[in-house]
Amino acid sequence: MRWDYLYRFQNRYTEGGFKRLLREGFSCENTLIDYSPTVTACGHTCVYTGSVPAITGIIGNEWFDREKGKVIGCVDDESVTIVGSPGGTAQSPHNNLSTTITDQLRIATNYQSKTVGIAIKDRASILPAGHAATAAFWFNSADGNFITSTYYMQELPDWAKRFNEKKVIDTYYEHDWETLFPIQTYTLSTTDNKEYENVVNGDASPVFPHRLKQFKGKNYGAVRTTPFGNTLTFDFAKSAIEGYNLGGGKFTDFLAISLSSPDAIGHTYGPNSIEQEDDFLRLDRELSVFFSYLDKRFGKGNYLYFITADHAVSESPGYYLDNKMPAGAIDDKELANLENGLKEKFSIEKPILGYSNDQIYMNWGDFDKKSIDHKEVEYFIKGVLLKSPGIANVVATGSLGTASLPDPLKTMLIKGYNVKRGGDFDIIPQPAWKNGSLKGASHGTWYPYDAHIPLIWMGWKIKPGFTNRVIAMSDISPTLAALLHIQMPSGSIGTPIIEITNKSGK
Ligand SMILES: [Zn+2]
Repeated sequence: MRWDYLYRFQNRYTEGGFKRLLREGFSCENTLIDYSPTVTACGHTCVYTGSVPAITGIIGNEWFDREKGKVIGCVDDESVTIVGSPGGTAQSPHNNLSTTITDQLRIATNYQSKTVGIAIKDRASILPAGHAATAAFWFNSADGNFITSTYYMQELPDWAKRFNEKKVIDTYYEHDWETLFPIQTYTLSTTDNKEYENVVNGDASPVFPHRLKQFKGKNYGAVRTTPFGNTLTFDFAKSAIEGYNLGGGKFTDFLAISLSSPDAIGHTYGPNSIEQEDDFLRLDRELSVFFSYLDKRFGKGNYLYFITADHAVSESPGYYLDNKMPAGAIDDKELANLENGLKEKFSIEKPILGYSNDQIYMNWGDFDKKSIDHKEVEYFIKGVLLKSPGIANVVATGSLGTASLPDPLKTMLIKGYNVKRGGDFDIIPQPAWKNGSLKGASHGTWYPYDAHIPLIWMGWKIKPGFTNRVIAMSDISPTLAALLHIQMPSGSIGTPIIEITNKSGK
C-alpha cells in the first residue's frame, strides 16, 4: 500500500475504515522505508524487528546462497514439513537473525502472551509472528487451506480445521469480481483496458467483470489477485481471535495480519487501474467491519491497532510512457550479455555465480586463480551495464561507504547490504524503470514511490493527530516496545516515535 491511497480514493471511503483511522488515530504521514531493496520479506522483517537487512539477514524474498550454490526462499526450511495439507518442504522464520517485537512480548510475559501471524503469503505471516510464535498460518493455493509447519505444531488447531473444511472461497466465487460502483464513476483511474495491464486467471483481457464462478472448487490461487483475498484473510483472522481467545486472557496478545492481495493486484494491473481503486474501496469497507468487530469484542480503546505496508509501488512503466514521463523496462538480456562479456574478456568459464535482488554474485575464486585485479573486473562490469539506458549506477557493495552516491540512497543501500548473504555488485535502476516488461507494476527500489508507506496508530494509549516529521519503518517496533514497556528486538536500530509515546506530549 502506498501512502497516497489514504487520500486519493478518500471521496468514496466510508466513515469507519481509512477515514476512521485518520480521524481517531495518529498518522505518521512521512514514514519511509530506510533501506533498499523495498520488497515483502525485508518489509515485514523491518516492521517487526525494528531492523534492516544488513542485520536481520533477510535481504530479499529469496537470495542466492553461496554455500548451497542456488537461490533460496527467505522462509524455506528443509528441517520442517507442512501441516494442514499434504506436502513436503515447509517454512519457518529461521533465516531471520533478529528477535521480533512479537518474540519480545513472549519473553516479557514468560510466554503467557500469544502471538499469531496470518497472511496469504507465507513470509508475510511467518516473519511478523516471530521465532517464539504461538502460530503462523498462510494460504495454500493448491487446495485453498490455511496451513502451517511442524516448526509451530504437529496438527492444525480444531478451529482452523473447521475453517478449512468450510471452503469459504467457494462462497466468494459465487459472484464474479464486479466493480463496487458503476464502472464509469472510476474517474481517478485509467480506462479499464490498457495494454500495460497483465492478464491473469484465464481472462481474455484485463477488464471487468473478472470471472470467478468458473473457479468454484477448482482454482483457489485465483483469489490472490482479487479483493476477496482480503475477505478470506479477515475471515480467518476472526476465527483465530475466537479460536485462540486472543485478548481474552490476563496478558497482552499480538495478532499480525498481512493483506497480500493489494500487492498481487498492484503487480498485475498497476496502481492506476480500476482494479486497484476498487480493491481499496472494498478494503476500506472490510476494515470498517473489522474495527466494528474489534470494538464489540474488546471495547473501543482496549486494543492497539496499527496499519502500515511492507512496501509501496511504482506506477506501471507503460503508464508513465503513455503519459510522456520517463520510464522503461530493463531487458533481461543485459545480464546474459554481461556474463558473456566477462567470459570472453577474462577467459573464465563461470564468472557469475548468481543474481538476485539486483545484486551480482561473482565467482571471485576463479578470478583469483588467474590473479585478476577485482578493480579491473569492476570497471569492465560498469562499462558494460552503464550502457543500458535503464541502469543508473552499478556499485561494489564492499565499498558502499566511499561510493559517491547521494543520501538517502547511500545509507539505504548500506542498510540493505548483508556482508554474508549479499552480492558483490548492486545495480541501481533509473527512476520508474522496471526489470523485464513494461506491463504491470513493481517495487524494490530506493525511490520514494516504493519507500513511502502509510503508518497510522489507533486505540489504546493513542491520541488523535498527525506528524509530517520523517519517520523510518524501523521506528515501528521500538515504538511498540515503548508503549508495551518491553525490550526492543535484539537487532533493533530504530527509535521510538515520541509523538506517540510521550504521554505528556500534544
Ligand atoms: Zn510485490
